[in-house]
Amino acid sequence: MRVLVGPAGSSGLGNLEGVKQVANLGMQAMECEFTYGVNLSNEKAKLVGELAKKLNISLSVHAPYYINLNSNEKKKIEDSKRRILESCERGHYLNATHIVFHPGFYGKKSKEETFDIIAEEIIELVKTIKEKKWNVKLAPETTGKINVFGDLNEIMELTKKTKCSFTIDFAHILARSKGKIDYDDVFDKLKNHDHLHCHFSGIEWGEKGEKNHKLTPDKEIKELVSEIMKRKKSVTIINESPNPMKDALRTKDEFVKQGYKW
Ligand SMILES: [Zn+2]
Repeated sequence: MRVLVGPAGSSGLGNLEGVKQVANLGMQAMECEFTYGVNLSNEKAKLVGELAKKLNISLSVHAPYYINLNSNEKKKIEDSKRRILESCERGHYLNATHIVFHPGFYGKKSKEETFDIIAEEIIELVKTIKEKKWNVKLAPETTGKINVFGDLNEIMELTKKTKCSFTIDFAHILARSKGKIDYDDVFDKLKNHDHLHCHFSGIEWGEKGEKNHKLTPDKEIKELVSEIMKRKKSVTIINESPNPMKDALRTKDEFVKQGYKW
């Protein structure tokens, strides 16, 4: 069992200082956020990647939010793929493992048709990543809104069909299930995978699932850590709350409290 914990983004410090801060706080991971665009050069990415390697921090990348592989407009699909591939290229220079993205919306299409279209695009992206020899994994994320593609079953089917990796967002799963997350069922679906890339935070939800991320309640940190500890599952947990550095640290402290030793 191997556990890596860290924040989403650098809390305004910038990637280099962010990596240093994560290491200073005794954490092991950080997700570089390209939320509104891939605004990092390959050269800078390389510097950040080298520092992270030196300090033993495992990096991942969150691709820009505006992505829809199931758009009716061809240009929007092409733009989405370009944003994902730019994230992969930077990720390669960062020595990042997972390239996280939200695959798309159902729009007016059926769930089945949406799945087929998104799967086809991801197969093509996986092929390009191989051709370019970028050493990263595409990791579509479980989403929190019920009208958005990406419940746990869809993401796991996608992984099977396209050989991509995946990201499990426990807050999103909680929101989709309106607070009644069935950990046995979730971990059963993940049992064939050794190391899980995960997101976590507090979350507000309504009839349509996710409303917004909030600070991570103590009770939810305790619960998730204990579910992971009792299954001895290897995980990377990236905190995405409004205070990700602090909440990641609280998550790390809870692992220590429950007996995990780094
Ligand atoms: Zn997430």
